[in-house]
Amino acid sequence: MPASSDAVRRRFQRQRRASTKPEMLIRRKLHRRGWRYRVDTAPLATYRRRRADIVFTRLRVAVFVDGCFWHSCPDHATRPKANAEWWRAKLQANVERDRDTDARLREAGWEVVRIWEHEPAEDAVERIERILIARRDQSSSGAT
Ligand SMILES: [Zn+2]
Repeated sequence: MPASSDAVRRRFQRQRRASTKPEMLIRRKLHRRGWRYRVDTAPLATYRRRRADIVFTRLRVAVFVDGCFWHSCPDHATRPKANAEWWRAKLQANVERDRDTDARLREAGWEVVRIWEHEPAEDAVERIERILIARRDQSSSGAT
């Protein structure tokens, strides 16, 4: 790991623990609409380090609010020029890990919702809510 990225990495690690602002906004809106969820939780017991930002345990819906930089958003992804190769590999690994997490969750019967941090919170909440309602209707109609 290049020394110059140590500070960036530490900032990143701090950020991962604290919730980001778009995520807080989405959570608050969902809560106001009566939805209850767990925060920063690993949906799969076998992958404790794959944590989702907002987790609806009973309905098995996992929401990830992805940062545009760290998850390479198609509109806002930037690549640092210093240590370019290290960053390219690092960011590529993040994306691959995301897709792998999605696949593992879907295999286990979870619905995965990926929100970009740049998405308006209201749009994100509507998208999440539509999925929650569909899952709830599914489970109440007796389907497993
Ligand atoms: Zn973006």
